[in-house]
Amino acid sequence: MIIDCHGHYTTAPEPHQLFREAQIEAFKKGEALPELPHISDDQIRESVETNQLRLLKERGADMTIFSPRASAMAHHVGDDAVSQQWTRACNDLIKRVVDLYPDYFIGVCQLPQSPGVPISHSIAELERCVNELGFVGCNLNPDPSGGHWTSAPLTDRSWYPFFEKMVELDVPAMVHVSGSCNNNFHATGAHYINADTTAFMQLLQGDLFKDFPTLRFVIPHGGGAVPYHWGRYRGLADMLKRPPLAEHVMKNVFFDTCVYHQPGIDLLFRVIDIDNIVFGSEMVGAVRCIDPETGNYFDDTKIYIDALNLSEQDRDKVYEGNARRVYPRLDVSLKARGK
Ligand SMILES: [Zn+2]
Repeated sequence: MIIDCHGHYTTAPEPHQLFREAQIEAFKKGEALPELPHISDDQIRESVETNQLRLLKERGADMTIFSPRASAMAHHVGDDAVSQQWTRACNDLIKRVVDLYPDYFIGVCQLPQSPGVPISHSIAELERCVNELGFVGCNLNPDPSGGHWTSAPLTDRSWYPFFEKMVELDVPAMVHVSGSCNNNFHATGAHYINADTTAFMQLLQGDLFKDFPTLRFVIPHGGGAVPYHWGRYRGLADMLKRPPLAEHVMKNVFFDTCVYHQPGIDLLFRVIDIDNIVFGSEMVGAVRCIDPETGNYFDDTKIYIDALNLSEQDRDKVYEGNARRVYPRLDVSLKARGK
């Protein structure tokens, strides 16, 4: 199987976005939040079949771990109540996609984070999505402030109640920021990649996995700048008197393959152990155009991986085996279906 661990519902039907706009408007005016919109199954089918599902099949993958549109999480907008309502609406929509296409999609949830609000407020939604909706992981935003980094680092104890729940449910988190409200940081071009790099450095500095030996994070977008600067991080680990990265961080952290050119993928696979790489494309996402140099879509990351001519064993790890390890509930769900 080929499992794409990084897909967002970037093409959700228009009423979903209009609801969000009405919600923000109501919040600004101090009015009651609007009712949820009606979205038909046909609208969902059309939005998926012409986009993610079509591309998944065309590109030869089998399944996508699917979550709400990351840039639209916008945890910095509104307050706790706004975020709770929006998050529920987004996750319920993912559940509907999964129910319509159970062979092709499995859910990962957004969390109702909000700046200054304890992460414990996100536990109930994680439990609902995993226990009731059958989701297999979550997207955790290390910076709900949208580019101002007002939260404590991920290794701070304030995050622990949530990590305890992740461990209990045996689900990983993809460390994933959302939109940027700081003009210095373009959302997908700077804020995302900064956050990936920042999260890794926080994990290096801290001792989180001593307290949570089975906690797992996927750092997307190829691990940000980390693989390219791997020597810097190995050196810093040494200087900061941390154990070697292989045992200090890399038993618990995985990078996806959302790197949109061949030399970047070459480097990722050369530097990072094969057991720590999970296939992802983030389509239809940040860079959805065709590379004029190759004639292929930038986000058709399978092409770059196939060009590596990996051994069958390594190929299986990247496309399937590692994802089953990182997302055990996915593995259980697939096995229950004889896959
Ligand atoms: Zn993403």
